[in-house]
Amino acid sequence: MEKIVSLCKRRGFIFPGSEIYGGLAGTWDYGPLGVELKNNIKQLWWKTFVIRRDDVFGLDSAILMNSKVWEASGHVGGFSDPMVDCKKCKSRFRADKIDVKKGCPDCGAHNFTEIRSFNMMFKTHAGPVEDSSTEVYLRPETAQGMFVNFKNVVDTMRPKLPFGIAQIGRAFRNEITPGNFIFRTREFEQMEIEYFVRAEEWEKYFDLWLAEMHRWSEVLGLEIHVREVEGEDKAHYSKRTVDLDFDFPFGREELYGLAYRTDFDLQNHLRSSGQELNYLGEETKTKIVPHVIEPTWGVDRTVLAVLLSAYQEDGDRKFLKLNPKIAPYKVAVFPLVANKPQLVEKAREIYSQLKTNNYKLGTIVWDDRGNIGKRYYAQDEIGTPWCITVDYQTLEDNTVTVRDRDTAKQERISISELMSYFENKLA
Ligand code: ATP
Repeated sequence: MEKIVSLCKRRGFIFPGSEIYGGLAGTWDYGPLGVELKNNIKQLWWKTFVIRRDDVFGLDSAILMNSKVWEASGHVGGFSDPMVDCKKCKSRFRADKIDVKKGCPDCGAHNFTEIRSFNMMFKTHAGPVEDSSTEVYLRPETAQGMFVNFKNVVDTMRPKLPFGIAQIGRAFRNEITPGNFIFRTREFEQMEIEYFVRAEEWEKYFDLWLAEMHRWSEVLGLEIHVREVEGEDKAHYSKRTVDLDFDFPFGREELYGLAYRTDFDLQNHLRSSGQELNYLGEETKTKIVPHVIEPTWGVDRTVLAVLLSAYQEDGDRKFLKLNPKIAPYKVAVFPLVANKPQLVEKAREIYSQLKTNNYKLGTIVWDDRGNIGKRYYAQDEIGTPWCITVDYQTLEDNTVTVRDRDTAKQERISISELMSYFENKLA
């Protein structure tokens, strides 16, 4: 884990939030490479689950919502974690994440406060008046935005059951103990789908979404472990919940979740808002309140799991074996040496050609620092799948070498074939 945290800082993936002021617990900033990686993951998700499907519709709802949403959803009353303090060293813990009988994990004392319940929603005020009537919350999940827009999507898109609403967005939780790098933060991003089905078909679609989540994890190279959530850990309204866990260096922990939420949310909003949140069945012409299957993916935990899985060491060589589709840079272009104008000019030409087509390929980068070995080393470390080198032979026969990150092997490719070569690799 230390290697990944250090690589992220050193190579511009992820920095501590507000670093020059000593940081702010539970916040991290994505740097130039981190933002590319994260955007590529989000775009791949959107393509996979929205663009390529006919039955899922996108949404981007506001982070600030009427507080009645959170009252109806049960978050005001119940979105809390159990908290306990060590009276000796004053450390604070989530009571369900430590073994209280073993004593304080920081100082070993057996002197805890009573367990108290702590609501994790961040509260603020909308407008200049700070009283209870202007109180609003930063959303702790994106899901409710999809439930309150259910009728809008039905009325505008006229979908047939089953269908889904998908969104990617920020969520905020005042976590008692943020930590483990970007695993548990107070501000993070989620990719979520509410998939509306007929009550009697929930098992079929639960299994289909579980299969989809397996496929997604395979594409990213993530090994996941399915765990049935039982007893107290399962929300009272959910008939079945599974967590998809990943082996992080600090233990096997939740990466994604899949829940059958019945019609709990729509019924709550229907009751509280007095609005008809139903769906008119085509065949039966009867109004039904659909049930929902909710697959949810944390963006930041995906970034962490992807980096941990991709990191490889081969002797002195360190490389990130990222799926090229999500790699921050797709191709790096180098002149063999930086002090031969003819080589530099030719390399610049190729770089500009690829760069003008970068909406097809993704980010293309130029590098002429140091020697060729150092450049390969630097690109390997950030996971660039291919490096193009322009050498003396290029000037004679218009071919370049393309080096593969994973095998370190080089191929000679004609300049005119470069675009189709990379397009095929990224297809
Ligand atoms: P945990 O048990 O780890 O607190 P959770 O069960 O509360 O997680 P969900 O409410 O199911 O999490 O949230 C959906 C997804 O959002 C999680 O699977 C995870 O990927 C992500 N997520 C939740 N909380 C955080 C957080 N504090 N920091 C980063 N990602 C988070």
